[in-house]
Amino acid sequence: MKLAYLQHEHHEFRDAAADAMADAQLQGVLGRLADTLGVRNREAWEDFADSAATRERARRIKDATLADLDKHLETLERSVTRLGGRVHWCDDGAAAREAILGILRQCGAKKIVKSKSMTTEEIHLNPALVEAGIETVETDFGEYIIQVAGHRPSHIVGPALHLNAKQVAEVLSPVAGETLSSDREELTRFARRALRSKFAEADAGITGVNFAVAETGTIVLVSNEGNARFTTALPRVHIAIMGMEKVIPRLADLPVFLKVLARGATGQKLSVYTSLITGPRRMGELDGPEEFHLVILDNGRSRILGGPLRESLFCIRCGACLNACPIYRNVGGHAYGGTYSGPIGAVLTPLYDGLSQNHHLPHASSLCGACQAACPVKIQIPEMLIRLREQLHHEPRALGRVERWAYGIWARAMRSPRLYRAGTWLATRTLGRLKRSTRWLTKLPGGLGGWTRTRDFPAPAERRFRDWWSAGAGDWGLGAGEGASPASKEPFDHA
Ligand code: SF4
Repeated sequence: MKLAYLQHEHHEFRDAAADAMADAQLQGVLGRLADTLGVRNREAWEDFADSAATRERARRIKDATLADLDKHLETLERSVTRLGGRVHWCDDGAAAREAILGILRQCGAKKIVKSKSMTTEEIHLNPALVEAGIETVETDFGEYIIQVAGHRPSHIVGPALHLNAKQVAEVLSPVAGETLSSDREELTRFARRALRSKFAEADAGITGVNFAVAETGTIVLVSNEGNARFTTALPRVHIAIMGMEKVIPRLADLPVFLKVLARGATGQKLSVYTSLITGPRRMGELDGPEEFHLVILDNGRSRILGGPLRESLFCIRCGACLNACPIYRNVGGHAYGGTYSGPIGAVLTPLYDGLSQNHHLPHASSLCGACQAACPVKIQIPEMLIRLREQLHHEPRALGRVERWAYGIWARAMRSPRLYRAGTWLATRTLGRLKRSTRWLTKLPGGLGGWTRTRDFPAPAERRFRDWWSAGAGDWGLGAGEGASPASKEPFDHA
């Protein structure tokens, strides 16, 4: 199970995708994704009478919040501080890791529990905790499985989605000290037994943040397992980490996001547990932490905020675009190489992590638009991918020599009528003649063969439009040959 594409970051998407497509077990799991989460997402929107208006409202709130992000973040800081919490501003992952380790050192924490957080994955927190000698236990079932297996999450809301029940049993059996069956209830019972005591023993709990309400200082956590409640209620210290775009101005905005998040994530009307945490434990309260720390992470977001890809900050991490994407459904999450996968990962990873190191990702899309249609906040992902592709041309290191050479010739030909004519002449006399009985080419020669390995290529016409036109076909346009339909004219058969 230690396949390279499960482990690595910054790898070549194409190689990792090929590995993933050759993995029969993974293909079996991914093949069911459209019929499970994909269908549930779709049905949830169909059953929701106000879905269009609510999604539009969520989008508008995000847009307006980002326009005044600094103001809302300052309000959030004041609210959290007023309640007795502490706010830590961090420019990047290293600063966030250092801030969290500092808090843990200060409170003498040796054991911690975590609930699921993609932001902690983004800053690579777990390896830093292990290195600091702090016992760290993931308490979301999926996260627990991949922590034991040593994998990265393969889906935003289903981190262990790449494993079937039999594999989960194989992963957990050594920890259980017995052979677990692949019965899902037995596996869950084991995880519950293994994790209960960890909550009670932990010195600190670390969580992400789904939304942070500026006016009240409330941290909102959404889960289906209840582990976030234990993580925040039992340990002495609670550390919550959020990307700075997670702030929402008012408590009244929250229901809008809860409705769209649950439907986008799992097709539920509402997630099972929604926890609203407002500061540390107060006098007279029975549970809750003595200390509350909020870590606010920038990590490139303020740079994105002022640029053309600002809309990527609308993302509420529901995962719906992954379930809808034909590429993700074929290659799974690990092939993308970064913390975030699928269509939104193909945008976020180059933005957070560098475009030239992740140059394949903007091309890991058919631009079919299924992601945008599925997204609860209607983020224009295809448009952003096109913009990233455009930016790649200004990053010479991101393109290989052959690619640079091919694009150079293409650009030249498109600017010169003479070269363009020569190119179309050549195409009709080579590729145009390769076709047989259909208008599709099933096998392209040489390096172009990659295209036809998994799909056909539309054959160019045997005769160019300009040749057909100058051979007198203008008669057709003037009405000669009346009664002839365009469909009967050969040139219209081809693009
Ligand atoms: S881009 Fe949209 S659909 Fe994809 S994870 Fe973000 S909010 Fe969900």
